[in-house]
Amino acid sequence: MSMEGSVALVTGGSRGIGRAVCLELARRGAVLAVNYAGGEDAARETAEACRALGAHAEIFQADVSGPEACEALINAVKERFGKLDILVNNAGVTRDGLLMTAKAEDVDKVLDTNLKGTYFCMKAAVRLMSRQRYGRIVNLSSVVGLRGNPGQTAYAASKAGVIGLTKAAAKELAARGITVNAVAPGFIETDMTAVLPEKAKNAMLTSIPMARPGAPEDVALAAAFLAERASGYITGQVLCVDGGMAV
Ligand code: NAP
Repeated sequence: MSMEGSVALVTGGSRGIGRAVCLELARRGAVLAVNYAGGEDAARETAEACRALGAHAEIFQADVSGPEACEALINAVKERFGKLDILVNNAGVTRDGLLMTAKAEDVDKVLDTNLKGTYFCMKAAVRLMSRQRYGRIVNLSSVVGLRGNPGQTAYAASKAGVIGLTKAAAKELAARGITVNAVAPGFIETDMTAVLPEKAKNAMLTSIPMARPGAPEDVALAAAFLAERASGYITGQVLCVDGGMAV
């Protein structure tokens, strides 16, 4: 498979799953726009690693939790590379806690970043993609968005929202050559899950038929598959990468 000549933007491409997605797309020949919010050094490392694979890669700072920043990010990529073929909405945050004691600002942060960030990056990107009559959008959801998880009500709502958004946009954009799909990871070893208490990690492991966590590269392969030109007859789908967790 080849992405030669395609321009790809990965939000939150600086670390974890986003970095692995950048590297997989770079390996397939895409030009990479690596977005980050605050971790400039990590973003530079990702871009450098993409270049080591022979790809062109540049970093783009933007906090996707604001609609204007999402629009400015897409415009910056368009100005730099002239087009956008692949958008991977990967940037995400958690603010875990019980529903009864949740703080409004934490709920806002999670919904603004995970759901509205995805929404407004898509909104700006589909204007370009519609003109091109071509686009591949891959959104990061989560098994938690399908099944729920105690202590993660806002996060689960954001990730379930991403699935609704993916399906509605898939129908809206199908006739324009744009596919919209989601990847739903289970328990993947990144900074996001490293902070979980041992008890929570063990509880998670017992719910995975494969009895082990996944790696960012496992998710990257699924995202890259959906971002391929050849995957053009697949849209509105949610692909779980979870060792069987959601089965
Ligand atoms: P991570 O290691 O915590 O990395 C998060 C990435 O998102 C970083 O690159 C971070 O960049 C970026 N980011 C955060 N807030 C942002 C913002 N407002 N604007 C732009 N970028 C922002 O997370 P991860 O585990 O790789 O997760 C990636 C995605 O997969 C998330 O959407 C997450 O919800 C989803 N997911 C993860 C798991 C898992 O088990 N790890 C499971 C299911 C779903 P900076 O460092 O620059 O802030």
